[in-house]
Amino acid sequence: MKSVKDIGKLKNKSVLLRADLDVPLKKIGRQFKVDDDARLKDLLPTLTYLLAKQAKVILIGHLDRPQGKEVKSKSLKPVCYHLEKILNQTYAFKSKKHIQFIPIERYIGSAALKAVENLPAGGVVMLENLRFSDREEKNCKRFAKKLSSLGDIYVNNSFSTLHRKHASLSAIQSYLPVYYGLDVIQEIAHLQAIKQKPAKPLVLILGGAKVNTKLPVIKSFLNKADCVLVGGALANTFLKSLNFEIGRSLFDESRIQHARKIFNVNKIILPVDVVTQKDIKKVDQINKNDKIFDIGPTTVKMFTDKLKSAKTIIWNGPMGKFEEKKYAHGTYALARAISKSQAKNITIGGGDTHEAIKNESYKKNVFISSGGGAMLEYLAGNPLPGLKIKS
Ligand code: ADP
Ligand code: MG
Repeated sequence: MKSVKDIGKLKNKSVLLRADLDVPLKKIGRQFKVDDDARLKDLLPTLTYLLAKQAKVILIGHLDRPQGKEVKSKSLKPVCYHLEKILNQTYAFKSKKHIQFIPIERYIGSAALKAVENLPAGGVVMLENLRFSDREEKNCKRFAKKLSSLGDIYVNNSFSTLHRKHASLSAIQSYLPVYYGLDVIQEIAHLQAIKQKPAKPLVLILGGAKVNTKLPVIKSFLNKADCVLVGGALANTFLKSLNFEIGRSLFDESRIQHARKIFNVNKIILPVDVVTQKDIKKVDQINKNDKIFDIGPTTVKMFTDKLKSAKTIIWNGPMGKFEEKKYAHGTYALARAISKSQAKNITIGGGDTHEAIKNESYKKNVFISSGGGAMLEYLAGNPLPGLKIKS
């Protein structure tokens, strides 16, 4: 993997910088504002490095899932304003940096090319949400080629999307020299150590709602992990696949067969009791109208016991609908158990999982990854479409 610091001369070079711009927005009056800018702050070291070296930077990225259509509420414009603000607050440049925003009708058209041509050394522009075009998620080669025409060099600083086979992450690699941002380099360096030689026992904790990204990695982990503790809608999907009644709980219909196939009684540990909209129930007592929203107290005890002897802990996905206080106990109890754990290495990833643990204080042995799905895929040993390793 080549780092942004391995690029030779940068002065006047156009750098297409794939960033993680997917931050939560909040509507205030008629305007959207950035609600949490942690990901943008992570971008600053790489961005300022490039600007200090007098490169011309073209920021590209996505926001949320507009499904290939132009959706006003998912525009990157407020992100552009916010990034400009924190860039100027944090770093002292000779003059204030302005980040020019290139709206959808212009991007990758001749006007976008012109905007880039007119950029001075050390200047920066941001393109509108790439997912406004359906060609981004289709990994369209022509789209990638057009994007690449804006730059001389491609730098990827978006660790959290490395598992996505999209045009600005994967197809683009065929058209420009590929380098990685400081964040990606740092995350990979950390995760590589755990991937190669994890201290045992290794306990994997999986939960949350995105069954799609989490279930497939379990199989790759089955030979590495000593046990896999499962909560959230992922657990519901397993329970359903084993013919348990789960009532009206959230689960992923399309993954039932898959869940049944990989279920391994020795390693995959499912909840034995759960919290429903009404009360705490054993998993074999759920009726048609119940909704499972959290793991129950016996399960919490069972899971935290497993964590006591763990030497490596990897966690992605909350145990329940933790945004509602009455369903947060399972997730918070695990967060606390992990903060007290004697494990040598603890790695926690995923946007919602971050949100759930943010009030917990963690020691040095805890690594918070900026990615959920990407972290799991990498640790499982699966290839990441966004990662080009020197051949
Ligand atoms: P992460 O962002 O950490 O990877 P996900 O995005 O997969 O996690 O899932 C987080 C979401 O899952 C949260 O919004 C949470 O409310 C929801 N969730 C977890 N368990 C349940 C459940 N049993 N029923 C409904 N929603 C759930
Ligand atoms: Mg999430």
